[in-house]
Amino acid sequence: MIIHKTAEEIEFIRQSAQILGKAHAEVAKLISIGVKTSALDKVAETYIMDNGGVPSFKNYNGFPFTLCISVNENVVHGMPGDYELKQGDIISVDCGVFKFGFHSDSAYTYAVGEISEATQKLLDVTKQSLFEGIAKAVNNARIGDVSFAIQNYAETNGFSVVRELVGHGIGRKLHEEPEVPNFGKRGKGITLKSGMVIAIEPMINQGKKEVVQEKDGWTIRTRDKMPSAHFEHTVAIQNGKAEILTTFEYIEQVLTQKYGKAILN
Ligand code: MG
Ligand code: MG
Repeated sequence: MIIHKTAEEIEFIRQSAQILGKAHAEVAKLISIGVKTSALDKVAETYIMDNGGVPSFKNYNGFPFTLCISVNENVVHGMPGDYELKQGDIISVDCGVFKFGFHSDSAYTYAVGEISEATQKLLDVTKQSLFEGIAKAVNNARIGDVSFAIQNYAETNGFSVVRELVGHGIGRKLHEEPEVPNFGKRGKGITLKSGMVIAIEPMINQGKKEVVQEKDGWTIRTRDKMPSAHFEHTVAIQNGKAEILTTFEYIEQVLTQKYGKAILN
């Protein structure tokens, strides 16, 4: 069952997402060579708790951390730990916040130091594929329109789309109906209507699309061990169009300060 949200409920999600965006920015400040991924988790958890939120992922189906941190060939659901970031890594940081009775969910993939041109293209294309999908999330469109836009953009640019993991409805529960695949056909799937809130989250691989699960029972990685990137926004269909409730603004302020150049969407 798809649960439609009132304008007031969507406002609660937007406010929860403000804390989420700023928690992401605290993580962005810390990301650098030699930092342990467990330190990133700590800073996010502290920020969320200090601001009256609850980390959505912690204890979700037994997941023990605030962040999913997935480095290089890890796609999603990686666990923070003793790994120290290295020059040339890419790191996907996925986080959710529960506040005012609602969840928000977003993810961003960062470069650590200098990365190869090919991997930079993977980050750029994955992020743009998210915005290609969001642009299609309008009243009376089909889920397949969103899915196709993401897949088409990623594949046209020479990358592949993970099939096993998908975006989702979000609200009082972290994962609600409908599923939002990153691949599909135009004109297929459920019809999007105002009041629906969905997390759109392309997971795009530099090599082949196949993924495997690591022995830890959580981490999903590419089978060919080529890098994978992940960007996610929580989006409401409201006033006939897609309204992005989460934000990369605070993250990108930090990146602009760190690298001295504007980050282009
Ligand atoms: Mg997420
Ligand atoms: Mg999600």
